[in-house]
Amino acid sequence: MKTVLITGAAGFLGSHLCDKFIREGFRVIGMDNLITGSLDNIKHLFPLKEFEYYHHDVSKFVHVPGNLDYILHFASPASPIDYLQMPIQTMKVGSLGTHNLLGLAKAKKARILVASTSEVYGDPLVHPQKEDYWGNVNPIGPRGVYDEAKRFQEALTMAYHNFHGLETRIVRIFNTYGPRMRVNDGRVLPAFFSQAIRGEGLTIFGDGLQTRSFCYVEDLVEGIYSLLFSDYHLPVNIGNPDEISINDFGKEILDLVANPKARLIYKPLPVDDPKKRRPDISLAKKVLGWEPKINRAEGLRRTFEYFKEAVS
Ligand code: UDP
Repeated sequence: MKTVLITGAAGFLGSHLCDKFIREGFRVIGMDNLITGSLDNIKHLFPLKEFEYYHHDVSKFVHVPGNLDYILHFASPASPIDYLQMPIQTMKVGSLGTHNLLGLAKAKKARILVASTSEVYGDPLVHPQKEDYWGNVNPIGPRGVYDEAKRFQEALTMAYHNFHGLETRIVRIFNTYGPRMRVNDGRVLPAFFSQAIRGEGLTIFGDGLQTRSFCYVEDLVEGIYSLLFSDYHLPVNIGNPDEISINDFGKEILDLVANPKARLIYKPLPVDDPKKRRPDISLAKKVLGWEPKINRAEGLRRTFEYFKEAVS
């Protein structure tokens, strides 16, 4: 039985990855410090003998006894309001945390996959975003703490690959949604679902003409799994290229939730909010044979079922 360490295991993506690796027959060690994650996301795994949970902050030295075959580094505050409230922790987990996990991977001769982000492209001047675009990031803006930590993470991961011959993988994750998103994490989808369900105004930031491209979590997990077991070490975009404006996204959620009291309202646009975002996934198609299968209508229906329960 192979062993995988998943950091950020109690988070949205981390918990779905734990489920996937358990289903695939791995022994899973989940690690989290719960500053944004919740044990509710993994409590169903606690009775399993193949699952172990370590409460630990990976920005401090990481000790795991015994053998490790794979490491997935998914620990980080990941929504704009989280990294505004926790700027130092965000920088530390992307830099010191990554360094600790690369060191652990080297010591254990494990393969490591690190979670990078479409934020490395900043407010992109190239559209859609391909992996060879270097990005347009404001290092000192409010998003800089996340964007630059993730860019540093990519650089450090490549350095370990090139200098130590470590087996590394880098996934650039675009906007992802699905069950287990935190209701109040401030991101657009949890905000719109909770506002629509409560019959409040859906808070569109700016004129709502900015775009995003939303990937259902199940598709994302399949893409990450394929990447880990591929032999490709350069960054790969994983996301759904179906692009939509935030206005139209708000209207889709209004239609789905069908609460007559809900409506669109407009609020100021946050600083450095990217105007357009859509992944070019031709590389993932070519090297992984991967593309998303779940369209937004289906993904939103499934996610609505979760938010109905989660929003009180
Ligand atoms: N947004 C919005 N209303 C909200 C939350 C977000 O209009 O209540 C917008 C935000 O300004 C951005 C987009 O939705 O243009 C996606 O924001 P999110 O925080 O989900 O993530 P981002 O893609 O910006 O990292």
